[in-house]
This record gives sequence, C-alpha cells and structure tokens, in this order.
Amino acid sequence: MKIAEVIQTADWKTEKHVPVIVAPGSVKAGEKIVVELSVGKEIAHPNTTEHHIRWIRLYFKPVGGKFTYDVGNFEFGAHAESVDGPNKGPIMTEPTAHAVLKLTGPGTLMAVAYCNIHGLWESFQDIKVEG
Ligand code: FE
Repeated sequence: MKIAEVIQTADWKTEKHVPVIVAPGSVKAGEKIVVELSVGKEIAHPNTTEHHIRWIRLYFKPVGGKFTYDVGNFEFGAHAESVDGPNKGPIMTEPTAHAVLKLTGPGTLMAVAYCNIHGLWESFQDIKVEG
C-alpha cells in the first residue's frame, strides 16, 4: 500500500472534495504571488460538526528537481462545536486559505485536502517562471 493509492483525484468542477488551486500560470522570478486554496469552489462541500474539510496542505515540485517541498499547512479548526451540542457553536471555518510565495524557477504546485469522512483528495497546477 502507498499513500498515492488512496489519494483521490477528479475535476474540481464536478467533484466537491478536490482542492482548487488559483495561481497565476506564469510569474516573474522572485515576484511575490498569492495562491488561493479552497475546497468546494463550484459545488459546496458540507461544513458541519460531523462532516467538514479539516485541512489543505500545499507542496511544490520544481521542474528538474528530485525532491518535493512543503509550502504550508492550512488547518480549519472550527466547525460549530459547542457545549450545547453539535452545530450549535458560534463559529465555522470556511475551507479557504492563501499562501504568499516567491519562486526562482518553474514547477508544480500540488495540494492535498482532507475531508473527515471522505478522505484525501489532490490536485495540481503548473507555474511557469520568466527571467
Ligand atoms: Fe466530504
């Protein structure tokens, strides 16, 4: 068994669990860029105490590089838990996060999202870097 065998993938426009990466397709070397990560962009995912997106993690694999780099972990910690019972709490985290980063060369951003019921989901986006 390998982790790759259990991470599910699909088109984010038709499957609500797939992490959506919004990033420029081409950037300048050293330029600060904003990468938006979310789940449920086209089809909303449930966000309840019992069923929610727990986290999204972002990685970067440079073109021609052997190793993958960890970019950030984004935890969604509040799901309306309360002493009054599930779904009665005052706060609910939406599964959206932003990473600000700079690249010196091209590569692939890879995101993994975790639903507490439906497991692991992945997506990727290539980024070109000029000059
Ligand atoms: Fe789910």
